[in-house]
Amino acid sequence: MDRRTLLRGAAAGLVVGGGVVGGAGEAAAVSFYNPFTGYRITGTWQEHLDRGSLGGIDYGMNVGTRLPAAGGGTVRNLPNNGTGGHTVTIHHDNGYRTQYMHLSGFLLSDGAVVGTGGIVGLSGGAPGAPGSGSSTGPHVHWHMIDPAGRRINPLTYLGGGGDGLPKTSTEQDGVPGPIMWKRAQNWLRIESGYTGPIDGVPGPGTYSALQRNMRAHWGYPGPVDGVPGPNTWAAVQRLAAAHGYTGPIDGVMGPNSWRGFARFLNRDAWD
Ligand SMILES: [Zn+2]
Repeated sequence: MDRRTLLRGAAAGLVVGGGVVGGAGEAAAVSFYNPFTGYRITGTWQEHLDRGSLGGIDYGMNVGTRLPAAGGGTVRNLPNNGTGGHTVTIHHDNGYRTQYMHLSGFLLSDGAVVGTGGIVGLSGGAPGAPGSGSSTGPHVHWHMIDPAGRRINPLTYLGGGGDGLPKTSTEQDGVPGPIMWKRAQNWLRIESGYTGPIDGVPGPGTYSALQRNMRAHWGYPGPVDGVPGPNTWAAVQRLAAAHGYTGPIDGVMGPNSWRGFARFLNRDAWD
């Protein structure tokens, strides 16, 4: 499948293998996405060039974070790859390659075939740890390589689809929708172990992560069963109350509850 074909597919908003491909305008190439939206960029492409690197994007994240494949392909594991440390390369069908560096662990065997969003390894980067290479702090380094062998910026390759999530209008209109839930999923992935797709469609995985967060921080006393009830929503209202919601804590989400929740979700940290 060539890139033109991929672009056509993108307009259809296909979902591939556990990863997410947004609708038109959200991701330029179907079966490719940015699995790290929401993590803070700790090193830009230009900053890499400025210090003599061939280029890359660094995303800060805790050691051991699961690293989803930005696109499907064949996995090659390169242990102790110089300054890059443990490196996983995904060879995509269109001739491009994706590389993640400074891993703390490989999860797939060499030559394994992975789908978009499949977990290929665990992040690392702690200084001096096995696999960290020259890394000075926990992060993943990501770059791509084009079919001619040139290192390219994955965010450029994604055509603007890798810059992060838009803010949700729920903060203004009080109506929850897919953008709000994408931001919630991103937040929960970063803070509460959500590992599903960022697709804006909350299911049991999203709600379980929400309940874990509500238990840890907002006084939710119930089970983590992925089925939110009044106690879950009352906890969400307590979070909303910390962000401007002034109504009752009654477990019934109305427009003002959603607005407070969305005000929290619109923080830059969850882009
Ligand atoms: Zn880097």
